[in-house]
Amino acid sequence: MVGVAGVLCAATGAVSCGGSPRGPSADLIVVNARVWTVDAAKPEAEAVAVRGDRIVEVGTRAEIERMLGTTTRVVDGAGRFLMPGFNDAHIHLMTGGAQLDSVDLKDAATPAEFARRIGERARATARGEWILGGNWDEQQWPGAPLPTRELVDAVTSDTPTFVSRYDEHMSLANSVALRLAGVTAKTPDPPGGVIVRDAKGNPTGILKDAAQSYVFKVIPPPTAEQRMRTLKRALGHMASLGVTSVQDMGPDPDDVAVYGTLAAKGELTTRIRAVPAEVTLAKQLAGGPVRHPASPFLQVSGAKGFADGSLGSTTALFFEPYTDAPGSRGLLADEMQPLDEMRARLVTIDKAGEQLCIHAIGDQAISMVLDLFADVEKTNGQRDRRPRIEHSQHVAPKDFDRYARFGVIASVQPYHAIDDGKWAEKRIGAERAKTTYAFRSFLDHKVRLAFGTDWPVAPLDPLQAVYAAVTRATLDGKQPGGWVPEQKVTVAQALEAYTMGAAYAEFKEKDKGSITAGKLADLVLLSGDPFKVAPEAIRDLKVAMTMVAGKVVYEKH
Ligand SMILES: [Zn+2]
Repeated sequence: MVGVAGVLCAATGAVSCGGSPRGPSADLIVVNARVWTVDAAKPEAEAVAVRGDRIVEVGTRAEIERMLGTTTRVVDGAGRFLMPGFNDAHIHLMTGGAQLDSVDLKDAATPAEFARRIGERARATARGEWILGGNWDEQQWPGAPLPTRELVDAVTSDTPTFVSRYDEHMSLANSVALRLAGVTAKTPDPPGGVIVRDAKGNPTGILKDAAQSYVFKVIPPPTAEQRMRTLKRALGHMASLGVTSVQDMGPDPDDVAVYGTLAAKGELTTRIRAVPAEVTLAKQLAGGPVRHPASPFLQVSGAKGFADGSLGSTTALFFEPYTDAPGSRGLLADEMQPLDEMRARLVTIDKAGEQLCIHAIGDQAISMVLDLFADVEKTNGQRDRRPRIEHSQHVAPKDFDRYARFGVIASVQPYHAIDDGKWAEKRIGAERAKTTYAFRSFLDHKVRLAFGTDWPVAPLDPLQAVYAAVTRATLDGKQPGGWVPEQKVTVAQALEAYTMGAAYAEFKEKDKGSITAGKLADLVLLSGDPFKVAPEAIRDLKVAMTMVAGKVVYEKH
């Protein structure tokens, strides 16, 4: 009974727990902070009280200090900025974790440097193990040539190597990897994928989109022990960046099992929502109702699908040809072919009450997904379904209204705007660029935004993403006033999209997303105030402390 009373008390904050004669005392209070609540009913405060895993009061320092008890931990905010923990609405948790521990090619500025780093890695790799990860970006190389297997064969010898571009829509295999995968000049391009070939028709080593699965199929899966190590590494990284919730898109079910193991031990320090692949979920639903685990730290819900590829790989699907590749409009994802089957799966998943989260980047892919959402609503009737379009990158002007009409959430990653913004305009032209990463247009059309990073495609650091959304200053320093500056958002709008917006996008706005009495005590203390520093200095702010469920999970020393 004691346990039950304690839970009730923590949830309501209304009655005394633990029998203090003066009234309820808090387990933890944060005082002397500038509290930015993201709660319109009380936007700012000085202090916050926590009991158990919940916020019990938000107010002035004097109000909160009344809840001081003998065992209360007091955190002195020292005038710094306290806000709700960041909720990253779209990441790839274990790919990101693995990336923390693999070859990093993102800033390899030349093909020679790319090869040198892979060679260094090969020397440190045990026999029979693969070199994976990478995050390379050929757009920063002179002339932007795609890398080839010849470039790395000499430095990798018999170590199978399969390193991906930072958007993960293409990868480079060395000759060993191609041989293990059985990819030769005779191998056909799969639906939704391309094997890049040289003048003689031989594979160059570059495999685009679905063609990557030829190699993925032959990479041995990590052991449970390796997975656990990767997860713990990722958890540490997330806590250090103030990320208290993540939405993990299309995870491997074996990884979700490892999340479950840690959740059961009470050792998760970031709340994880795993969103299974729609093809997998549809298959499970065909066998009857699917029961997913749900706890405060781990839930499995929704369904993630793909409508097209990426802009960087020229596989995002557009109505009009690419400006710099007039022969191509991009590729429809293989799971969209045939479209009737995709539609049928989405209807089934929606009928089971699950949320649809579909990746669409090019304007035509986005339009097709909106059509599908319309079909789903027509078939299954109206409900609060909050369908999501992941990335929502290049929107045809006519489609903003359809987002609003169907209550579609734009799940976007602002960092891509300042990264891809270096070269995107030459790929799609100035006209399409106007409604590209169109965060402002979404808000103007009353469309809900949920911010995220797509980590490891972009860095997980939310302050980099906030900086990107507020400044739109491309990473090459060439657009200090912002690329398509009309699409900038304010600091308040960016913080809201990263907290309440992302919570709404997972149906958790009653539990998370703002510093409000009764909600989960997931809080982050920043080194400085993003409203007071110059916009270009937002990315230099650091996380001083991260609290999850009222417990300090990271503290900068
Ligand atoms: Zn993604």
